[in-house]
Amino acid sequence: MLTYSPCARDGNSNGEAAKLGCRVLTLADRLAKHSESTDGLTCTFMTPAHRATAAELLVLMVEAGMMVEEDVVGNVIGRYPAARHNAATLIIASHYDTVRNAGKYDGRLGILAGIVVVEELRRRNVSLPFHVDVVGFSEEEGVRFSTPFIGSAAMAGRFNEAVLNQRDAEGCSLGEALRQTGGDAASIAAIRRPSPLLGYVEVHIEQGPVLLHNGLPLGIVSAIAGLERYHVKIRGVAGHAGTVPMSLRHDAAAAAAEIIALVEQRCSSVPGLMGTVGQLQVPNGAINVIPALCELSLDVRAGEKHALAAAVADILTGIGAVARRRGVTVETEKLVETAPTPCSPRLQKALAAAVARQGVAVRHLVSGAGHDAIMFGGLTDIGMLFVRCGNGGVSHSPLETITAEDADLAVRALFDFLINFESG
Ligand SMILES: [Zn+2]
Repeated sequence: MLTYSPCARDGNSNGEAAKLGCRVLTLADRLAKHSESTDGLTCTFMTPAHRATAAELLVLMVEAGMMVEEDVVGNVIGRYPAARHNAATLIIASHYDTVRNAGKYDGRLGILAGIVVVEELRRRNVSLPFHVDVVGFSEEEGVRFSTPFIGSAAMAGRFNEAVLNQRDAEGCSLGEALRQTGGDAASIAAIRRPSPLLGYVEVHIEQGPVLLHNGLPLGIVSAIAGLERYHVKIRGVAGHAGTVPMSLRHDAAAAAAEIIALVEQRCSSVPGLMGTVGQLQVPNGAINVIPALCELSLDVRAGEKHALAAAVADILTGIGAVARRRGVTVETEKLVETAPTPCSPRLQKALAAAVARQGVAVRHLVSGAGHDAIMFGGLTDIGMLFVRCGNGGVSHSPLETITAEDADLAVRALFDFLINFESG
C-alpha cells in the first residue's frame, strides 16, 4: 500500500529526504490550480486554464534559468543550453493538457521532472555537452477537438492540416481557437524542431498497475503498443427460448461468448499482449428469444508488431472456426490499425543504467497507452521512463497518485541519465 510522504509543502520537514520529488509534487499542485471546472482538474486545448498553465510553466522555466519560447500551437519550450552553440539537442517532454476531471500527474510529471532536473543541474553548476530542451506539449489527450497529439505532432512536423477544421462542442474550429489566442495556423508547418536531435525522453506515470503490483517505483518502456480494432457482427437464427432444443440452435450471443473467451485465452499467452472486448450488444434482444444478432468490439494491442499480427490472425481464424461450428455468420470490419513504436535500445540501456544506479531493480514494460513520444518515433531515438501510480494504478481520474519518493527517484534517475549520456 502506497502512502503519501509528508512533504515540506505540508509544513513537515521530513520532506527533505525526497526534496526533488516534493518539489515536483508541489509544482504539480501549483499547475492544477488552473482548471476549467471549479472542482477537479480540467485543462483542455487553448482554454483560459490552458493558457494560464502555459504561462506558469514559462515562469518556472525562466526561474530555472532556461531560455524560453512558446510556439504557435501553445507548446512551451525551455532550453538549458550547452556551452557550444551548435551542439545537438536532447528533448525531455510530455503534455500539460488533461482529460476532464483529471489527475495532476498525467503528462505534467514529465515536464516538471525536466524542469526540476534543470534546476538541479544549474544549482550544481553542471554543464552538458548538448542542449536540453524541456518541452510542455499543449495537447495530447484529444479532448476538445477529438484530435490527440496536436502539440507533439506540430513539433515533430507531422501535423495534419485537415484537423484545423475539426470543431469543438460549441462549434469553434481548431483554426479559430488558434486565431482567438493570437496564433496563425499557417505557420504550424514552420514550427521549429531542434536540430540536430540527440533523442527524445519522456517521463510519465505508468497509468496502470504493473509497477505497483511488482513493488517497483520506476520502469523502462520497451515499446509503445500498436493496436488493431475491429467491429464484429454475428448473425444467428432467432427462435423461441422454450421450444428450440439446445442442439439445434444458432445462437449469436453464445458464439460471442466463445469469441470473448478465445480472445482472452490467446492474449493471455504472451506477455505484453492485450485483448479486450469492451462493447457487446444483443440488438433488440429479449429474455425469451434466442439471439439472432450480436455485435462486439475487439481491441488487440502489443508492443511488438509480429506478436500483434500473429494474435490478430489467430483470433480472426478462431472466430471463423466458431462461426462454422455454430452455423452463424460473422462479419469483421477493421476500424483502426497503428503500428507499435519501439523505444530505442540505446536509450533503454542508458535509462536502465541510470535507474539501477538509484538502487532500483530494472524492469522493462510495454506502454499500452499512447504517448507524445510516438510522434518522435522514426525522427530520433525515443526513450520513456515510467513512474509507479498508487491507488491500484488508476489514471485519468482525481484518484491518480504518486509518492514524493517515487517522483524523487524519477528526477534523480533522469539527472543521472543526463550527466552520463553519451552524446557522441
Ligand atoms: Zn499522458
